[in-house]
Amino acid sequence: MLARLGGAAEADAVRRRLAPRSDPLPPRFRVERRADRKAIEAWWQERESDPAAIADPATLDTASLYGANIENMIGTVKLPVGAVGPLRVNGLHAQGDFTVPMATTEAALVASYARGADVITRSGGASAALLADGVVRSPAFVFADIGEAGTFVAWAAERTEALRAAAEATTRHGKLESIEPFIDNDVVFLVCRYTTGDAAGQNMVTIATEALCRALLETCPVTPRCWFIEGNFSGDKKASYLGLITGRGRKVSASVIIPEALIERRLHVTIERMLDYARVAQLGAMLSGQIGAQGHYANALAAFYIATGQDAACVAESATGLTRMERRGDGLFMSVTLPNLLVGSVGGGTGLPSQRAALELMGLAGAGKASALAEVAASLCLAGEISIMAALAAGDFTRAHHSLARGRR
Ligand code: NAP
Repeated sequence: MLARLGGAAEADAVRRRLAPRSDPLPPRFRVERRADRKAIEAWWQERESDPAAIADPATLDTASLYGANIENMIGTVKLPVGAVGPLRVNGLHAQGDFTVPMATTEAALVASYARGADVITRSGGASAALLADGVVRSPAFVFADIGEAGTFVAWAAERTEALRAAAEATTRHGKLESIEPFIDNDVVFLVCRYTTGDAAGQNMVTIATEALCRALLETCPVTPRCWFIEGNFSGDKKASYLGLITGRGRKVSASVIIPEALIERRLHVTIERMLDYARVAQLGAMLSGQIGAQGHYANALAAFYIATGQDAACVAESATGLTRMERRGDGLFMSVTLPNLLVGSVGGGTGLPSQRAALELMGLAGAGKASALAEVAASLCLAGEISIMAALAAGDFTRAHHSLARGRR
């Protein structure tokens, strides 16, 4: 890495190039909270770039619908959406043959998921179960010493009901499940876990936890030197061991037993070869220090989250978990377990026009659908694991990308 900076002879040139500049500033963007045709047109008029592809007529006509989801709106970018399905899901909440939307610019991706979905459906469907749900916010409190930290924790433990009331007064749907203290000498993290109804819930738990903290600090006999609404402990938008073990969001496991004949006919590989690959993949995951062990949950989740109005940055935490496979009689058992699915069927971007339509395509828009949505998301990940592992095991991976990606340009 350092070699790219050049040798000692180039050090001055590098320093000059990276130094702060004091030339006059270009005009600053005014943060614009309105999202409407007038504001967007005004922005483009001040510039020489061509707005056509970003601020197209359809975007201008519907701009106000985006007002709650964006600042400084100047248009929309268009992503192709591919359909995968039918994906049969036999879930505790999701029941049926789903057409799953994936928004991506990655060639070969939808084809690969469609192949996995076809194998799942021909095997009778994915058995999918929501195992737990609980979104975490973890405020941090810094005290003068370990003694004060201990007093604070004891005080909080005795007042759970009052804290619950303060938190739940901010939301009709969020419910405080638990408060767990984690002490590091004079610093206390309070791991506050909530169920969030049908919302993904990150805003909900932030607002509720702020109220909880204020109620706690109002009466507590010790005052922290400082405190923060999030101590970077919850795993929000990053993969974490906490998330892998205790889950953040919705935890779902999905599995299927694929008959040997189907594997050979549709995936062009044998069970033994799949198991050979699985052993190597587990070793690779261990040696490289992955959190969990899986093939590419991020591919499914990024495309699914973008299509359905979820927070795409949450893929960072959602795309962790474990993929397993083993022989079961004359079939191959495959399962995925994802402990951190941050998905909602209400809130966030789920009400925007095309995102809402994508949810409706699956019959999963609105209240009462979030658990089913999580089970479909996990089943989609299972489809992806089947397809990629078969391609790698069969030696088809490079060829498929070559013909489906490069070969079409
Ligand atoms: P939200 O859109 O902020 O809130 C959901 C809203 O839907 C609430 O007003 C809720 O009412 C209402 N609601 C109506 N019916 C509901 C039902 N059946 N179940 C649950 N809620 C229902 O969404 P959010 O899920 O809380 O937060 C997601 C957003 O947070 C994403 O856009 C994400 O980008 C963002 N985010 C925030 C943070 C943060 O720290 N603040 C971090 C990461 C991401 P009640 O509140 O009365 O229950």
